[in-house]
Amino acid sequence: MKTCSGNCGHRDPLLCAVPPYMLEKVAEHGKTAKARRTALDSLQITNFFRSKRREIQRAFQAMGFASFAAGPGGTLSSQLERRVYDAQNTKDLPGRLVRSEGGPKSADPAVNEVYEGAGQTDSLFRDEYGRNSIDDHGLPIVQTVHFDRRYQNAFWDGAQMIYGDGDGKLFGSFTTDLDIIAHELTHGVTQNEAALVYSFQSGALNESFSDVFGSLVKQRAANEDAGQANWLIGDNVLIGKKYALRSMKAPGTAYVNHPVLGTDPQPASMAKYAELPAWEDQGGVHINSGIPNHAFYLAAIEIGGQAWKKAGVIWYRTLCDLLPADATFARCAQATIQAARNEFGGGSLEEKAVNRAWKTVGVL
Ligand SMILES: [Zn+2]
Repeated sequence: MKTCSGNCGHRDPLLCAVPPYMLEKVAEHGKTAKARRTALDSLQITNFFRSKRREIQRAFQAMGFASFAAGPGGTLSSQLERRVYDAQNTKDLPGRLVRSEGGPKSADPAVNEVYEGAGQTDSLFRDEYGRNSIDDHGLPIVQTVHFDRRYQNAFWDGAQMIYGDGDGKLFGSFTTDLDIIAHELTHGVTQNEAALVYSFQSGALNESFSDVFGSLVKQRAANEDAGQANWLIGDNVLIGKKYALRSMKAPGTAYVNHPVLGTDPQPASMAKYAELPAWEDQGGVHINSGIPNHAFYLAAIEIGGQAWKKAGVIWYRTLCDLLPADATFARCAQATIQAARNEFGGGSLEEKAVNRAWKTVGVL
């Protein structure tokens, strides 16, 4: 594993669905004192887990796991193994075991949503790209639902997934979007592959790869072509028909003039790249990810057909074989072009489409 174990100087990331700037908006502009307090609580819990994550990494490394993500899950398997726990609205982790691999459906939709979501995510990586779970070594996928009360986030804590129920006004349950589940689990894949450093451009690429595979899992489950997909991320969790967390097709339009959140700040091209300090969203990792997201969308549309079959393969091989942890957008662009050449040949339609996509967003 190439992931930074916390001793190379940069802060450990907490890989959550809702970026800090959205919760900060709610904490500041939420309509009621209760809404503002709930957002503030969610932010504080996020900070708590950020420090806990480092302890988890150290403990697993001390136990001699090749990958700390292998966790306390026991034997590594060559088959998918899912476990879903219920925190019963407490902060106790992992909580009560409520569904295991092959076990009967739960009466609780959240349990079934994350069980199925992990299955769809694993199936994309396993059946299309030959990957054995998140770490490629059969890591059991552990997920906890109903974490805390009104918790407004979902995240990968380095060893497992954790989902809040949302406050029911601004955010619904974080288990309702397949692309959010897949986005978070993909952070585990990235952690075990390119291990992209979670700040500035490499951090925005880390976010973007999660959106790319999050969207591909959703498209594959719905059997959609690139042209049929809506390319939105989190269009259920953010309450309101016209709102989503992000748009890969048109970054900056996922929510417009939202009464609390304002307007989606994502740029679609380098002309609007947000130069931000490290303390603001780790240098804009959830903001500038709009640029590589848009490049993927453009490449997938030009290549056509089911996006996970060709564009997805190019991005997956790039993530596994061709990117250093500190990759910039330009480095990623070159790497995807190389991957397209490796997979489909020099001068192929796929290589040209990838090249054109990065030019359109102003990276090349
Ligand atoms: Zn993320």
